[in-house]
Amino acid sequence: MNIGVIGTGYVGLVVGACFAESGNDVVCVDNNAEKIAKLKKGIIPIYEPGLPEIIERNAREERLTFSTDLDAAVKKSFIIFIAVGTPTSSTGAADLTAIREVAAGIGRAMDRYKVIVTKSTVPVGTTDQIREIIKKETKHHFDVVSNPEFLKQGAAVEDFMKPDRVVVGADQVHAGEILRDLYAPFVRTGRPVMLMDIRTAEMLKYAANAFLAARISFMNEIANLCEHVGANIELIRNGLASDERIGPAFLFAGVGFGGSCFPKDTLALIHTGREHEYPMKILEAVSDVNTNQSLRFIGKVRTHFGGKLSDKRIGVWGLAFKPRTNDMRDAPSLKIIESLLSDGATITAYDPEAMEEAKRVFGNRIQLATNNYACLEGADALLLVTEWQTFRNPNFDRMKSMMRQPVVFDGRNIYDPVQMRQLGFTYYGVGRI
Ligand code: NAD
Repeated sequence: MNIGVIGTGYVGLVVGACFAESGNDVVCVDNNAEKIAKLKKGIIPIYEPGLPEIIERNAREERLTFSTDLDAAVKKSFIIFIAVGTPTSSTGAADLTAIREVAAGIGRAMDRYKVIVTKSTVPVGTTDQIREIIKKETKHHFDVVSNPEFLKQGAAVEDFMKPDRVVVGADQVHAGEILRDLYAPFVRTGRPVMLMDIRTAEMLKYAANAFLAARISFMNEIANLCEHVGANIELIRNGLASDERIGPAFLFAGVGFGGSCFPKDTLALIHTGREHEYPMKILEAVSDVNTNQSLRFIGKVRTHFGGKLSDKRIGVWGLAFKPRTNDMRDAPSLKIIESLLSDGATITAYDPEAMEEAKRVFGNRIQLATNNYACLEGADALLLVTEWQTFRNPNFDRMKSMMRQPVVFDGRNIYDPVQMRQLGFTYYGVGRI
């Protein structure tokens, strides 16, 4: 099958590579010429475990190509996935500029029947809009399908190759069946391809992200109350996780959720509610609790140092919004570091994969260390912001010997408070004394 994927970002690149891996001929298109030039040279612009190997193999065997030419890609492809970004606009709504631009371009390039698939996360009704935009540009027959993506950055290849389920929203049975066939190699272990109408598929994606975001904000709120009443959120988490009705995922208290999806999708769903005069009260609280969570963390640092950070040197471990990615979009580290900088603190940071991105974001406003220990040279405190595996079991004696003051603010509760205090650290976690 000839497939075009428009938008070669965290989603589009994985989708394109994985469809090529199952034998399809895939062209990945992006309007970022620099990105495409890099990919043509075999340079992968993102960190995603397992992805480079798949790209390299499929590019070498000529099933996967990269291009800036939307027109040619559309003409060549039978199925076209739209995987461009849908960032938050100033109103909180999803900004659909790129979606509309690409839809019009697809319409202009159509030369025969094709299936156009919305892979981006888009508000209910967007796929219908895409259909109208394309219709204005072409006389050729086509179908539109909604096929939201549920992969997690950091485990994207595995998630795509072995999805929990594939959601296909189609108003035409025939178009839905084309997608079912395309996904057949990925659901051989019996995972379902769920066919439904387009609007329900669009809504399902938001419901999934909003629900996961709600679990995190719920746990953060309980953790904050734990600090007031002297209870331990980690024991509560274990107790909740072992309840089969609740399960263990997304129950970790911390500095709040970030990334390119949860904050944006929560806001977009709140906005959709407003458009329909149905206030999404739970989600508004989810978003507020999340905003406050990193502020609360910064508050602990300020309080510890009596409100004066101008002469303090702070080491930060973890910049990506979560482990196993280099993505810093909406990462809690951004807000935390910006706030400490505005207080006059000197920041030295380290992340196993996001250093290039950090350089782009912060320039020379912060120092970037060559490893996690180098961050701690003369530091008055360590802030653990992203729970990379390599931070879990460090050499605490070495840390202590390098720091000016042995103070640890553990934003992800990865260290044991009792052990930390025994080792001589002043320790602050989230939701436990
Ligand atoms: P991204 O920013 O990494 O990638 C988007 C790409 O689209 C960029 O490379 C950009 O240059 C390109 N682009 C923008 N306008 C274009 C145009 N007019 N023509 C061609 N290319 C264009 O974004 P992403 O993280 O891959 O997310 C894409 C979509 O998938 C979003 O709607 C997002 O909500 C959704 N999604 C993301 C994830 C995730 O984990 N990142 C998971 C599921 C769904």
